[in-house]
Amino acid sequence: MSATTAPPKPAVNAFTRLDALAQAHPEWAPWLCVVRVVTADLPDPAWNREPPDTAEPSALSPWLAGAVLRPDARAVASLFDRLTSVARAQGLHALAGDGKTVRQSEAPGDALAVFLAAVNGDDAELSRQATRRGASPDGFRALAQLLPLPYLHACARHWTASSPRPDWTQGYCPVCGAWPSFAEVRGIERSRHLRCGRCAASWAMPVLACTYCASTDHEALGTLVVLDDKSSRFSLDVCKSCSGFLKSCTTLQATPPDGILVADLASVAFDLAAVERGYGRPPGPGVPLDATLAAEHRPADAAPERKTRWWS
Ligand SMILES: [Zn+2]
Ligand SMILES: [Zn+2]
Repeated sequence: MSATTAPPKPAVNAFTRLDALAQAHPEWAPWLCVVRVVTADLPDPAWNREPPDTAEPSALSPWLAGAVLRPDARAVASLFDRLTSVARAQGLHALAGDGKTVRQSEAPGDALAVFLAAVNGDDAELSRQATRRGASPDGFRALAQLLPLPYLHACARHWTASSPRPDWTQGYCPVCGAWPSFAEVRGIERSRHLRCGRCAASWAMPVLACTYCASTDHEALGTLVVLDDKSSRFSLDVCKSCSGFLKSCTTLQATPPDGILVADLASVAFDLAAVERGYGRPPGPGVPLDATLAAEHRPADAAPERKTRWWS
């Protein structure tokens, strides 16, 4: 990651699964090359160097709500450069834009501006950054979402070690406020845990409650087995009250943090099947974070503070 830190040895399992995905879906190979870049950084302890300043926790506020972030600016810039370079090398210009346009318009701190916009789900700022690069807003947003992941993983590790909240009862992530990527039903005791696709946090959630609307109406909640694939560990938890769905997988052990992104990608057929049946996931995160960068980290040309719309 940073210029002074050698990258950690890649996790074999996550990379082996990425290789298997690329073999099974050759059309995904360019994107999976980009995912490999961020996957290598996820376990790097160097991203833990300066934990954020956080507010007093409450029953509804994730740990990073209103936090002041202190990411390693060189590490953020390095990762952003590697992500965009690999995306362009793979021909993903809708995601990374035209390299020439970028060099003409790049400003110091741009990577940090993208980083913060991705952390906060600030689509207006991400669209502005996409336009500057000649990328498509949707494509650039997909790429930019990867940029803060190693930092958010580091935040979740710090949170788990320093201030875990076993009493957390919300459907969104207790660390970063995102909705979970999937649920895990673990072990022979079949305990249910939600897993965040951004920071990889894990938190317990009773089986009979909707992640999104908290409904406990057993008439509204159900499970769909949508694919005729007996080997799949995934199914769909659905809620007729809010038309929400959440993938659910059975597993003996928790998915390792650097395997969450891969597991989410590998089970995308279930997302598509749910959408085909009229179910969806709320756009944006569960709650706005409104995190800021510490003064010494703020990009010189940062756009003025703006209110973000979370539900549109
Ligand atoms: Zn999270
Ligand atoms: Zn619901």
